Amino acid sequence: MQRILPRGEIESLDHTHIPRIFQAQERFVFQERANRLRQLAADSAIGGYLLLMAHVVDAQHEALSIPRSFPSASSEVIDRAQAHGMPPLQATGWPRDPQWLVILTEILDYVQKQSDVSDAAKGIMQGIATDIADQPEIIESLADALLARFDEGIDAARAPFVMAALQVYWTRLAIDFDKDQLPVITPFGVCPCCGSLPVSTVVRIGGSREGMRYATCSLCSTEWHIVRVTCTHCEDTQKVSFHAIEEGSDAIKAEACGSCNTYRKIFYQEKDQMVEAVADDLASLELDMLMGDEGFFRINDNPLLWQQSSSEE
Ligand SMILES: [Zn+2]
Ligand SMILES: [Zn+2]
Repeated sequence: MQRILPRGEIESLDHTHIPRIFQAQERFVFQERANRLRQLAADSAIGGYLLLMAHVVDAQHEALSIPRSFPSASSEVIDRAQAHGMPPLQATGWPRDPQWLVILTEILDYVQKQSDVSDAAKGIMQGIATDIADQPEIIESLADALLARFDEGIDAARAPFVMAALQVYWTRLAIDFDKDQLPVITPFGVCPCCGSLPVSTVVRIGGSREGMRYATCSLCSTEWHIVRVTCTHCEDTQKVSFHAIEEGSDAIKAEACGSCNTYRKIFYQEKDQMVEAVADDLASLELDMLMGDEGFFRINDNPLLWQQSSSEE
């Protein structure tokens, strides 16, 4: 049986015109994010938090630069992923190598050493470190909850640190994965490598990506192409609208969908070359408030800022 492929799928199959995915660049992915967080902190009402997260992202950069390898997808897993069009490094249910807790410990050690970190933040980090030593199952179950986006079991204060380690772990897996082994088509709206949600999308400038919109994975840092003016959640193209803060940066908008009532932010490099998927999303909370007032829902948390599970407030 044949079916007509929707526009986005035709484009994503046409490798000669639009690169479908970009794997993260080890030397830049976290460094650019940390730089951007510091730049945005200068004019931000949450500048202190952005600076704390800049230390976390510096620590991610250090951790990613340490050579190490973990078991990746086996040939059976890759065959099954290709047969069913599923992400081969699927985050939920993945057998995490205990080395991810070593990465988390490195991140905590690095951030705790910084002179401008508050006692409150240090207390949270010490609590995580104690649990890693004494009852790692608590940290493992928080990791499971973050990866599966459970409504329960999210400790919002600990989440950014734990997520930071998971990001380093999956970014390493994704960088080392042979992208020719990816299934040709994977489900819309999730990362083709690890199946996680995008944090935001960026309209790129330069080279083969000029004017193209790429989503950035909230976990493995892979970028994948999504046709513009398409809801990144439900793929609707008819009821998409763009919203921005009055007097705010031209480079930052929310792409909202009247079909599923959700939004995700979109950043424009042609307006500001430095925009970065995670940092700019985190620093533009005002736009989230506006979108909430307009009746649209945010699909995903920012990897560096989580909502406490409502049952545990
Ligand atoms: Zn991913
Ligand atoms: Zn939608």
